Amino acid sequence: MNIAANNPALTSWVEVPENSDFPIQNLPFGIIQLNGDSPRVASRIGDFAIDLKTLFVLGYLDNTPFTLEDFDTKTLNQMMMKGKTGTRQLRDRISKLFSTEHDDLQKNEHHVSQILIPMAQVSMEMPIYSRDYTDFYSSEQHAFNVGCLFRDPDNALLPNWKHIPVGYHGRASSIIVSGQDIYRPKGQKKPPSADVPVFGQSNLLDFELETVFFTYQGKPLGDVISTDEADDFIFGMALFNDWSARDIQGWEYVPLGPFLGKSFASCISPWIVTIDALEPFRIPGPKQDDPKILPYLEYKDDKHIDIKLDVIIQPENGDENIVGQSNYKYMYWNMNQQLAHHTVNGCNISCGDAMGSGTISGPEEGMYGSMLEISWKGTKPFKMSDGTERKFINDGDTVIMRGFSEKDGVRIGFGEVATKVLPAK
Ligand code: CA
Repeated sequence: MNIAANNPALTSWVEVPENSDFPIQNLPFGIIQLNGDSPRVASRIGDFAIDLKTLFVLGYLDNTPFTLEDFDTKTLNQMMMKGKTGTRQLRDRISKLFSTEHDDLQKNEHHVSQILIPMAQVSMEMPIYSRDYTDFYSSEQHAFNVGCLFRDPDNALLPNWKHIPVGYHGRASSIIVSGQDIYRPKGQKKPPSADVPVFGQSNLLDFELETVFFTYQGKPLGDVISTDEADDFIFGMALFNDWSARDIQGWEYVPLGPFLGKSFASCISPWIVTIDALEPFRIPGPKQDDPKILPYLEYKDDKHIDIKLDVIIQPENGDENIVGQSNYKYMYWNMNQQLAHHTVNGCNISCGDAMGSGTISGPEEGMYGSMLEISWKGTKPFKMSDGTERKFINDGDTVIMRGFSEKDGVRIGFGEVATKVLPAK
């Protein structure tokens, strides 16, 4: 796929720090808020937000399908209603405006100072309104580890796992943006030693290292999106910490699956990196012939993506500790398969729907995406640099996830999702 804005040779007249997640080849989308001003749609280059409302008002987005209302708003949904063709055209236009090959904008310093806003001056808002949130369970190593921990290492994967991209319907209302603190949840749990359940705060609070993708408007109820068509319905991705209270989850999940152990919070990174920007990092996925998958899940070309992922615990006033290093490439099921499966029964999807990958764990120790696996259900505590240990997450800890793809000297990053845990209310 030849997308002009992805050209690794492109450079910008805006200074971009070395190893920045946001070179001119990225140009993600988010919602910024400036002091006292209304929230608006933005992109980003280096350490600057690009105010797309002002860019539009000053005429730099003329002859695109967009209107002022698409940018003068508190979510990306309206802009996303223009579909893949529209958002690709928008990203290409921004790329041209900030490329060293074009000086239409650069030569107008008065405009530049209104459009480029130092990141230190803006706050990042929740970028997308998601009417629905679906969480998959698509990393084989994670499903295997959980199967070993809770069932039997000889039959760790349930019989359906390699036939179905397993998923469940999560809680969209509690998806929040990086930087917002969460409270330790409370609920009903049944410790192994107890005869009856007890009520109290979760003592086994855990993160899940995931990515999330957001959809464009889908098809009418009853229609199906094939793996071939799925690319046209996927807007972009963010980092995703899908919090879990393991003790609440363990008691409630049979027979209908996750509920209060999951619904209290899921956190996303604020910049949505477009699938277009990630196209250069596509790689082949695992063989899916043992067992052979059903025809509706087969796909063409490379649909997996190489995205390095780190998860970090930072105690209150302490240093960052990397507790896991994984990669999105370890997914068994890719996004095209997830979307094809989601809609194969005729289920409709909406503009802005959130689809979680499921915890992404790599094949070796050190590559796991949850404390459940890292501490092997509390039996192998993680040793922190300050001498303390973690089996799960303590009050005052901040959990940080970072991720980026890199190839041909171009690094496309997501920034981070960072969330601090406050004591139970
Ligand atoms: Ca999850």
